[in-house]
Amino acid sequence: MTFKELQLNKTILRAISEKGYDEPTLVQEKTIPLVLANLDLISSAQTGTGKTAAFALPIIQLLLSKQDAKKKKIKALIVSPTRELTLQIKENFQSYIPYTNLRVTAVFGGISMTPQIDILKRGVDILIATPGRLLDLFKQKKLYLDNIQTLVLDEADLMLDMGFINDIKKVVKICPPKKQILLFSATMPQKVIDLANTILNEPVTVEITAQSSPAKTITQLLYYIPKQKKTELCLHLLRNTIKGNVLIFRRTKFGVDKLEKALLKNGYNVVSLHGDKSQYIRQEALDKFKNNEVNILIATDVASRGIDINNLDAVIQFDLPNIPETYVHRIGRTGRANNIGNAYAFCSPDEKLYVKIIQKLINKAIPVEMEHPYITKEKSILDKPKRKGSKHKKGRKSAASKKKKKRWY
Ligand code: AMP
Repeated sequence: MTFKELQLNKTILRAISEKGYDEPTLVQEKTIPLVLANLDLISSAQTGTGKTAAFALPIIQLLLSKQDAKKKKIKALIVSPTRELTLQIKENFQSYIPYTNLRVTAVFGGISMTPQIDILKRGVDILIATPGRLLDLFKQKKLYLDNIQTLVLDEADLMLDMGFINDIKKVVKICPPKKQILLFSATMPQKVIDLANTILNEPVTVEITAQSSPAKTITQLLYYIPKQKKTELCLHLLRNTIKGNVLIFRRTKFGVDKLEKALLKNGYNVVSLHGDKSQYIRQEALDKFKNNEVNILIATDVASRGIDINNLDAVIQFDLPNIPETYVHRIGRTGRANNIGNAYAFCSPDEKLYVKIIQKLINKAIPVEMEHPYITKEKSILDKPKRKGSKHKKGRKSAASKKKKKRWY
């Protein structure tokens, strides 16, 4: 399929051709016609699949086809959880509209409202916003949402995890009742489905990547390790194994800072992202990493979610997530577009249960690295689990005989 076949305006076609997009991605092929048909939809597409353009291009098309007296009034609203993602979506929109007279802007917290208000006063057609700043500006009557035709909720699961449920409901309420809603969510926990059921109107489901299937080009390795040795293992991998750029996930902001200090002390050039850092510092860190000035980025899930960091050589899960879908989502940062990627997961004794639920989700045992200097001496963690069923036994046997160094857990 071509973009032309998707019935997009020639000004849009020109912009995307200049960006080097030859053909639509799967999510674009599926989503664009539905958005153009004015349907509500719920999509499980993740970052990296081209989902931003999947909603941005048809929204622009709809706006161009209905350019009328409502010029420079906000007609499309995209709500996103973080400042970085908000800026990234705005940049995407900007790159698709240079040959139109549409205007786009982004509003988010952490910086002064004044410049944002000035831009809003001049009038915009498309607004990208984080929920808190959006509602603040609305309460102060600095923006009006009565002309909204399309509302996008991006990374809905993360917004709910961050406690934005009431804010989202408020936003839905202050937009006109007759509107199109597009909900994107990397994972589909019950709370997202419940939200969708209450706010969407007969939505169509677009499922792109099954959460339970990491790309085949990703090599996964599990390291059993005492908690206090994780930093040493990380340094060991950086010295001996990992070549290229790496994203290291930590569960907490404190953990991110602690690891950053340790790596800096050991002479590594490293940047980090988490919610307590100022917008300026976060953007600077992201730019340095994206421009390859620094090859190690440490981040919490929240800070890194939805950010388009492509072509990662490796991902380290320094702390294992308690939500198994997050494991799949994190390793999906590497091995994109059929590139080879490496995903290393560190498991301390207290995280053993997480491995169990992750393996259940991906329906596969993660190969265990048996030969590293810090392997846990704790016998229980390395004991073979007594699994029923032939599938796992088979896997263990063949893998062990193929590669002595690794053992299936
Ligand atoms: P997203 O999933 O929206 O974060 O997009 C991931 C990356 O894919 C971004 O850098 C986009 O610019 C790029 N992209 C989106 N659509 C296409 C396409 N049809 N062809 C090539 N690259 C694309």
